Amino acid sequence: MLFDDFHVHTSLSYCAEDPISARDYAEAIARGSLRRAAITNHGFALYFPEELAWSWRFMTDPSLFDEHLEWGNRRIVAHLEEVEALRGQGLLTGMEVEMMADGRLTVDPRIRNRLEVLVGSVHWLPSEGLEEPRILDLWMDHTRALVRTGIDILGHPLRWLSTQVPRLPEEAIGFVVEEAREAGVTIEINSHLVVGSDRAMLLEAVRRDVPITFSTDSHCLAEIGRFDYHRKLLDQAGLQPEDLRFWEPRRRSGATPAASAPSGPGRRRAASRAGGRKRRDTV
Ligand SMILES: [Zn+2]
Ligand SMILES: [Zn+2]
Repeated sequence: MLFDDFHVHTSLSYCAEDPISARDYAEAIARGSLRRAAITNHGFALYFPEELAWSWRFMTDPSLFDEHLEWGNRRIVAHLEEVEALRGQGLLTGMEVEMMADGRLTVDPRIRNRLEVLVGSVHWLPSEGLEEPRILDLWMDHTRALVRTGIDILGHPLRWLSTQVPRLPEEAIGFVVEEAREAGVTIEINSHLVVGSDRAMLLEAVRRDVPITFSTDSHCLAEIGRFDYHRKLLDQAGLQPEDLRFWEPRRRSGATPAASAPSGPGRRRAASRAGGRKRRDTV
């Protein structure tokens, strides 16, 4: 079975490990490695210069998002034009966004209409100095709100929490799947940085009839179209692809003219920067 991949990155994401473009995904589709791919670069990489992006300050101070809104929109519109030109070759438009302290996502609502796939993920929360029960509360409150912002897919649902606590609390799996179900959001099985609880989460999603998507979250060329982790997980769970309800995107109506902007050198600058630098973090 050929899978869709609704969560992959290009060099516009600062954490990309190779020079990697939308065209690389179109070529992988043509080779028969995957069915379709949604290019979902990070909202925080598209809207913020690299230093600011990695500082995560925008998460607690969303006014920084407003300050960079037009700059980011110009980069995004140029990028979307590139992806839209490859639609006939199996590419879809998208973004991977986070929810800031005021509840807004790191995407201009005017751009939102133009995205066929919106992945919402937790990469950073203000957890420094907090004890484990408070970290769990923080993550639960955030996740409960995030799935209600209009995202399609909850990206790597347990990844951040699993990096914050020595042992993932059992209740976290039931919680995240039930929140997704109530909000009509899809649960993602992500192979970029795997979490030990993926099998339990997959089984729970199937049990509660929650839509599922398999993602490689590709950050480098070698990850494109590689679904061996997902196949192994299905095997271990005793499931067939037919047992899962795979999420299917709805096509959106297109951006408002206010969000249009000419393409420009930003894209080239971002691509060369990402290609030449050491990865600061992996998200
Ligand atoms: Zn990602
Ligand atoms: Zn992510």
